[in-house]
Amino acid sequence: MAKLRVGVNGYGTIGKRVADAVANQSDMTLIGVSKRTPDYEAQSAALKGLEIYTPGEDAASRFKTAGFSVAGTVSEMISRCDVVVDCTPEGVGAENKRLYAEKGVRAVFQGGEPPGVADASFVAEVNYDEAFGKRYVRVVSCNTTGLSRTLGALNRVSPLKKVKATIVRRAADPAETKKGPLNALIPNPAKFPSHHGPDVSTVIHGVPIVTAAIVAPTTLMHVHVIYATLSTTVTRESVLEELEKSMRIRVVEAARGLDSTAALMEFARDLGRGRGDMPEVVVWRESLSVDRDEVYYIQAVHQESIVVPENVDAIRASAARCSKEESVRLTNASLGLSR
Ligand code: NAD
Repeated sequence: MAKLRVGVNGYGTIGKRVADAVANQSDMTLIGVSKRTPDYEAQSAALKGLEIYTPGEDAASRFKTAGFSVAGTVSEMISRCDVVVDCTPEGVGAENKRLYAEKGVRAVFQGGEPPGVADASFVAEVNYDEAFGKRYVRVVSCNTTGLSRTLGALNRVSPLKKVKATIVRRAADPAETKKGPLNALIPNPAKFPSHHGPDVSTVIHGVPIVTAAIVAPTTLMHVHVIYATLSTTVTRESVLEELEKSMRIRVVEAARGLDSTAALMEFARDLGRGRGDMPEVVVWRESLSVDRDEVYYIQAVHQESIVVPENVDAIRASAARCSKEESVRLTNASLGLSR
């Protein structure tokens, strides 16, 4: 079977990680990435040997003046692809959809876009089949991905009856210095629900979930406190077993020193992952409590990398390349997601 030709439009926090992951898949060819400014990220893309495409001739000449080779325009990149992964800032992806439609290419959008931009919102282990063969797929946000992965596991043990979750959100990504320094806790928004609950319902359909979010002055990870009511009485062992089946859920012990987001990020760096990333959602073993049909736990989400495996699987699902099991296996192996 011919390799899938994939382009990445927008080479920021998410785009550069998705580009590396795509380049690492044996069934995909990375056609190139789009860049608007000849900055250090363009320099790292060039040093990795990636083809750089620019929005138009003005940008191309700025890149050439700065010493970069330019492979063509973004429009040309899109024409050379089977699937484009749109990693542009919130709202821009929806505007770009017109371009993808004109060129007749499939597109994977990110969680900053509204659900209506795509034919399916996506978290691989939960609803891969729903995105199978769909022209436009939306990988949900980092928080929604983390919630959907573990709630999806609970839902497999016993159908979810009701979920309440509080999200402590990182204020900015580590490189986003323009948003700081920060010293406040901000209800985000100061009313119920935050958008995350309704967003989870686009993946786990019909789940009654209420979420609240607080922005905190940290850049490392998000933390979620989750209270779920299931349809039947369950045991802690059965929940733990289901969580641990997934290579995208990492259960850790605070008692082993992994007692903060700082320690988790240090652990990820120690594992030697690219960029010190932690694409798994991390659940603290000690927090997992079961009282008959009620399950409580605390988890952490590395916002910069959790959606990377989902983007790779969304490409295969959209192109109807292989089953969920096969795609998840290939993606996990390529990203080192194993025990
Ligand atoms: P980013 O700002 O880090 O990167 C966006 C990139 O797109 C930048 O390189 C920017 O120069 C480029 N760009 C800007 N306007 C463009 C345009 N019109 N056309 C092409 N490229 C353009 O953003 P990000 O954090 O990577 O977010 C991208 C998407 O991923 C958003 O939908 C966001 O909501 C979602 N997301 C972000 C995170 C996160 O924590 N950063 C996590 C999950 C999902």
